Amino acid sequence: MNVLIVYAHPQPRSLNGALRDFAVQHLEAAGHTVQVSDLYAMQWKTTLDEHDAPQRDASLPFDTSLDSKRAYAEGTQSDDIAREQDKLRWADTVIFQFPLWWFSMPAIMKGWIDRVYACGFAYGVGEHSDTHWGTRYGEGSMSGKRAMLIVTAGGWVSHYSPRGINGPIDDVLFPIQHGMLFYPGFDVLPPYVVYRTGKVNAVRWSEIEHELGARLDSLTTTAPIPYRRQNFGAYEIPALTLKEDIAAGQTGYAAHIA
Ligand code: FAD
Repeated sequence: MNVLIVYAHPQPRSLNGALRDFAVQHLEAAGHTVQVSDLYAMQWKTTLDEHDAPQRDASLPFDTSLDSKRAYAEGTQSDDIAREQDKLRWADTVIFQFPLWWFSMPAIMKGWIDRVYACGFAYGVGEHSDTHWGTRYGEGSMSGKRAMLIVTAGGWVSHYSPRGINGPIDDVLFPIQHGMLFYPGFDVLPPYVVYRTGKVNAVRWSEIEHELGARLDSLTTTAPIPYRRQNFGAYEIPALTLKEDIAAGQTGYAAHIA
């Protein structure tokens, strides 16, 4: 299996660096081929702007979606974007690994999503009409591929429990897992989260190796999160609200999980 790890941490000698090294070694020892996009080491350009479509007509205002769409279709995107898209095409499974910063991914990784997820590649795919609102949420360019988050968090597991003050971890990660991964078509596996990072020591590290090793060994067999697919009868089109008989009375993120 081909595994791409998109990794964001500024310091190789960190908990995240140790997790990344462990994941690469474990996957390669199991016979998988691994590529790592180490975003800080690559000095990844974070901001989406007109330089991402270098051959655009500069006499016109920069249009974030239209210029992305044209550059993608015409093969004139900036090289760093095209290279990452090739890695996504190559991968069977994509792991996004990062420390939780302000309840989300570090800005450098958000910038990878903003720029690599070009119009026509990750969004703006398929027919858009009153009867079919795009090929997305369970279908799309990433169909048939799996994705998983490896996240570290300073907060305790209880802080992210159903009644914890930070909000349940499934809700905190929903915009990433549902919005950035399920949307372009990935099957999204439950995340592997290391909580209370300030307390990680040698004893906890050996538990982490065991837990993460088991998750990596079961990448192909773990059941994905059963997000409801857009174009398979659960949603009113084009309103894209859940039909009344689906998750009746339920609102919020959890209603979108079968
Ligand atoms: P490190 O600081 O590198 O390491 C953590 C601990 O692990 C250290 O004690 C280290 O000694 C130990 N360790 C490292 N490697 C090993 C090893 N191989 N064996 C044994 N022990 C090891 N947290 C939240 O919960 N929610 C937030 O919204 C949030 N926002 C943040 C925003 C910012 C800007 C920052 C800087 C932090 C935030 N945090 C938040 C905390 C953050 O999630 C943690 O600091 C981060 O996840 C820790 O990961 P690290 O790789 O940086 O750990």
